[in-house]
Amino acid sequence: MDCKSLNYGGFVSPSTVDWPGRSVSVVFFRGCSLNCFYCHNKHICHGIDERSIDEIKSRIEENSILTSGVVFSGGECTDQSWALKTLCLWAKDMGYAVGIHTSGTSPSVIYDLIRRKCVDFVSLDLKSTWDLYPEVIGQNRASVVPWIRESLRGLTLAYETQDLKEFRVAYTVYNTDLTGLVRSQVEPIVPFVVQEKR
Ligand code: SF4
Repeated sequence: MDCKSLNYGGFVSPSTVDWPGRSVSVVFFRGCSLNCFYCHNKHICHGIDERSIDEIKSRIEENSILTSGVVFSGGECTDQSWALKTLCLWAKDMGYAVGIHTSGTSPSVIYDLIRRKCVDFVSLDLKSTWDLYPEVIGQNRASVVPWIRESLRGLTLAYETQDLKEFRVAYTVYNTDLTGLVRSQVEPIVPFVVQEKR
């Protein structure tokens, strides 16, 4: 049975910066289990704004003349796995290219989307070197780091086998000394982009 609603964080369309080479609609999911000190989306990391999935579908369709795809972002879209899966499956059925932005805390949710062939692009945000992750996300959240490492491992494999067409790792620079070290955690085949902290 499809999910009927999601905790909504916002909508932008068209965007040409959220998926390289594409004009897309971006749906922001509200809520995030991390607490990055530099987060520029704190206003949507908590609270409730329940909206129907049909409303989100309508917004995407209203903007389809100017877009060829949709990106689900946040917050952390994989925290609402049921709503995310419902929207990804619907968007693929409608002929959109589908992307997600994630911090990688829920590898099983990501792998399920890949297995169902309803995601074409994943942008994985790496926060730091593995040992210094707690500096960014908070000491009390350090237990998620193995899950993020698992997401990087599995996504790299899916990209190598072409089960995932497009993949990139994004690093938001909070310490320039770490950029090379974060890059070295990622296989050379995987595109790596550096973002300025806002
Ligand atoms: S993972 Fe993203 S949305 Fe969540 S706290 Fe960090 S920067 Fe903010």
